[in-house]
Amino acid sequence: MDRYFLFRPKPFDCETLSSYIQRVSIRNLISPDDIWRTFTKKKYTNNQNCISIKLDVNPNSVFDLSSFENSLMLENGTLKKMSLFSLIDAKINFNLESTSNTYSFVRNFFVTHRRYCPMCLNERQAYKLIWQIKGIDFCMIHKVPLVSSCPKCNKKILLLAKNGQVGVCSFCDHKLQTIEDYNYVINKQENILYETWDYLMTENTPKLKKISGLSYKETLCIKIIYFMRKLSYNSIENHFGYIIEGNDNEYIIPFELVIDLLMKTQHTISEFINEDIPIKFIKYISSKDITKYNNLVKLKNSLLLI
Ligand SMILES: [Zn+2]
Ligand SMILES: [Zn+2]
Repeated sequence: MDRYFLFRPKPFDCETLSSYIQRVSIRNLISPDDIWRTFTKKKYTNNQNCISIKLDVNPNSVFDLSSFENSLMLENGTLKKMSLFSLIDAKINFNLESTSNTYSFVRNFFVTHRRYCPMCLNERQAYKLIWQIKGIDFCMIHKVPLVSSCPKCNKKILLLAKNGQVGVCSFCDHKLQTIEDYNYVINKQENILYETWDYLMTENTPKLKKISGLSYKETLCIKIIYFMRKLSYNSIENHFGYIIEGNDNEYIIPFELVIDLLMKTQHTISEFINEDIPIKFIKYISSKDITKYNNLVKLKNSLLLI
């Protein structure tokens, strides 16, 4: 028979899973450690904080999400939507969950200790996923810098301490809602990065649409080359050099490449996803000799059919 939590708070919009676990635990008078031990897929005993980083990036790899959802009477799939791989895949079909290395993604994009906006915490006791993204060092709502350690004991806040509570330092019990009066000036680059992640994390923003006759991966490939043109690199052949990293006659498109490209071309991901690629451009690409790269023969064949 299924067992249910007595109190079943709903996840907030944009909340991290590690934050939600702490809220469920405090409402039910147990510790996050109890929840972790009950629902973790393997028995990780010593390095909970290290492994719990995966909760917010690729939770399926460490945590039994569906059992946790059942015990909270949540619809299946609700909690997965709180994690980065799932959010990105939902918008641009990178298939990160099965193709990507969580640790290398974390190195590039994810801050592994808690960051927070004290003013947001004051209004709502939950940690947001966007606060963990590298390069986003401010709260867009309050225009203050995110705080990355406890103002009292100066220690970095763990994502999921054994006795963790949202808004409280697990080392000294200091409340983290202290308001700092500080006006953060957001530059253009930061703004693009913020818009990009905000877009990925917002449920009803449009997804990448396949170009008719191409797969998602091929569509992504053509879009990237189209946007690279905006950087006016020398030749179209050079552009492909960025994409062909795979082996076994398969090419890989790294997610890092898209973020890097957006930053360099100063475009938002909304422009990237929603811009229609002119058929003239597709014809132009298919007329180029890209078949010296074995793994692009298939792409060329698909393009020729359009
Ligand atoms: Zn805020
Ligand atoms: Zn502290």
